[in-house]
Amino acid sequence: MLNITDNYPMKNVTTLQIGGPAKKFVSVSSEEELIEAIQNAKQNNLDYLIIGGGSNLLVNDNGIDSLVIKNEIGGITTSKVGFLVPSEGKSDFPEVEGDSFEVRVKSGTILQNLVDYTIQHGLSGLQKLTGIPGTVGGAVYGNAGAYGQTISDNILSVVVLSERSESKDLSRMRVTLSKNDCNFNYRDSGFKRNHFIILEVTFQLEIVDPEILAKEAEDVLSKRLVKYPKGIKCPGSFFKNIIADTLPKEILQKIPKDKITYGKISAGYLLETVGAQGQILDGIEIAPYHANLFINNGGGTAKAFYDLAQKYAQKVKEKFGITLEPEVQLINLPPIT
Ligand SMILES: Cc1cc2nc3c(=O)[nH]c(=O)nc-3n(C[C@H](O)[C@H](O)[C@H](O)COP(=O)(O)OP(=O)(O)OC[C@H]3O[C@@H](n4cnc5c(N)ncnc54)[C@H](O)[C@@H]3O)c2cc1C
Repeated sequence: MLNITDNYPMKNVTTLQIGGPAKKFVSVSSEEELIEAIQNAKQNNLDYLIIGGGSNLLVNDNGIDSLVIKNEIGGITTSKVGFLVPSEGKSDFPEVEGDSFEVRVKSGTILQNLVDYTIQHGLSGLQKLTGIPGTVGGAVYGNAGAYGQTISDNILSVVVLSERSESKDLSRMRVTLSKNDCNFNYRDSGFKRNHFIILEVTFQLEIVDPEILAKEAEDVLSKRLVKYPKGIKCPGSFFKNIIADTLPKEILQKIPKDKITYGKISAGYLLETVGAQGQILDGIEIAPYHANLFINNGGGTAKAFYDLAQKYAQKVKEKFGITLEPEVQLINLPPIT
């Protein structure tokens, strides 16, 4: 039986701790509950929004007229990828030889739990995502990444609920997509447009010494703590960085070479140049040390956050001719132009 709450404050489920009430709210911990929740929304003529850890959301102060479904469907299983070889008398069964594992993960799994699991089991490919909050589903939706690694790098397939129709039997809408079908790009995936619900993700990860992976993760974490001190109320970086190759030559000429990392121009640099750093509006502060980090210092509103972001995006456009695009998902707010 689902425990659906009316008028649930979204600030309780976003890392920014901002957001008005969801008309209805429910947490689900199995696919059956998820399907029941969707059916409930349909019966009540309500739209629904699936969320994970709420770590990439800016929700309107007036809330959202939908059923918000918080995905807590977790679980990790692994199987070795390889070929069968005789066990040479050790047992009656052949053994599997190979240098990688398939890791199958339910989408509501906390990303950090998956990262820790892969490090402990010596499976390489997700260790640099250490410290990114939220769920695996949210990370796949936004193709989350850090320090040159993205969640999609080692994805084999994604199981989705392709439901947006009037069908009664939702369990039959379970579809397996290949990585290619997901249209991953920098902080982007096809899921931003098709609105499928991500249910399960399969990765293929190579076996590596766990100590090497743990060291890489440790190095990443120490860098991250400088930008994101513990307890910070934010939704991560607000704007996407800009892929340098997509800019015309005359604009690119204005950007110093050292501001281009992994082929991208830091949105933080552009915002800093137009004076965003340290600006404050009604409880929202743009970090004095990082102009792409908007922090709720307590009592901040979505309106103040949005207005600040819009103001400095405009200034960047005027100065550089570059349109910044939010990485954060705006819920019930107009696009930033
Ligand atoms: C301190 C901090 C540091 C961060 N650092 C990084 C970083 O280094 N790199 C980075 O990429 N991001 C970073 N982020 C942003 C954020 O953590 C990631 O985008 C994260 O992957 C979002 O996951 P989530 O579960 O919280 O998604 P949510 O915020 O809950 O949702 C984000 C979007 O995903 C959709 N969604 C969620 N689950 C599903 C699902 N199962 N099926 C379909 N759609 C779904 C939601 O509808 C929403 O549109 C950071 C955020 C914070 C607060």
